[in-house]
Amino acid sequence: MSRDIDTDALRSGDRRSLAKAITMVESLREDDREAGQRLLNRLLPYTGNSIRIGITGVPGVGKSTFIEAFGLHLVGQGHRVAVLAVDPSSPLAGGSILGDKTRMEALSREESAYIRPSPAGSALGGVALKTRESMLLCEAAGFDVILVETVGVGQSEHQVAGMVDFFCLLMLPGGGDELQGIKKGILELADTIVINKADGDGVGLARMTRQHYASAMSLLKHSDNWQPRVLTCSALNNEGVADIWEMIGEFRQRSEESDQAIARKRADQNLSWMRQLVDELLRMGLKKNPRLRDVLPSIEERVRRAEVTPLAAALEVMELSRL
Ligand code: GDP
Repeated sequence: MSRDIDTDALRSGDRRSLAKAITMVESLREDDREAGQRLLNRLLPYTGNSIRIGITGVPGVGKSTFIEAFGLHLVGQGHRVAVLAVDPSSPLAGGSILGDKTRMEALSREESAYIRPSPAGSALGGVALKTRESMLLCEAAGFDVILVETVGVGQSEHQVAGMVDFFCLLMLPGGGDELQGIKKGILELADTIVINKADGDGVGLARMTRQHYASAMSLLKHSDNWQPRVLTCSALNNEGVADIWEMIGEFRQRSEESDQAIARKRADQNLSWMRQLVDELLRMGLKKNPRLRDVLPSIEERVRRAEVTPLAAALEVMELSRL
């Protein structure tokens, strides 16, 4: 792959340079990764000037309809909006959430919007790391609102919550958590719950659902500076979408008043990512270690047969890796 990314063009918002840069950081090749890291380090001073918003919800809740309506609203206000995805089923399983070109058609036609499908593969740090890096590239390219979408079906919500400033859980009117396929612990991640499809026959039920979750959320422990809110909207009819942006404005305001809560959150997120990467690099290093490669199967077999405790075996592995 050509690695001559024109950083000036990228910084001026040129989508081709941005797309090329993202392709580079997404690449599974080690030389691309190194070039990608050099590029990211060069661009790092120009990153961070955005609000990072995570959006999750079960398939069919209306994520892409919502992102389209929300994105168009923001573009109408003069914002530049990038949409990224962390897709746990991506894309080998054929379930790439942003792969379908017909999704967010109107938004994708906007000059001030950039929509990127979920990256493939599982290189260092997995799909989520690539999305984090793509996010930085989008910021360097002047996008001031980053929307990170994920399907609410597993680990990916935690990963997305760990990379955004504000996390939005979309839900349907009616049904309890289990009925809606909401995993345990997800409510705790949410800075807002938005009951979508509050239109037509769904209006009354949406209101009841809102009340239910408003009281459920008030029982959960949250950060000092923000009590999560429960709203209703109709992404299809573009109702309630502006209110959500207003709420996020308030969230940012609160953050500034509480000693830059967003900046502190980002610092914590970066640190915890570095630690995860160190863990992962150590594991990769162990796997590549030729001395270990030969003996590891027999050590594992001894653990399996309970001839040695897992801790003793782990210490042996560490010892061998140092030889
Ligand atoms: P996703 O799988 O979460 O991305 O959901 P989609 O955005 O693809 O929406 C799934 C279906 O719900 C589509 O048929 C949408 O037209 C419909 N839908 C989305 N938002 C609304 C809404 O606010 N009201 C109603 N009535 N239908 C909606």
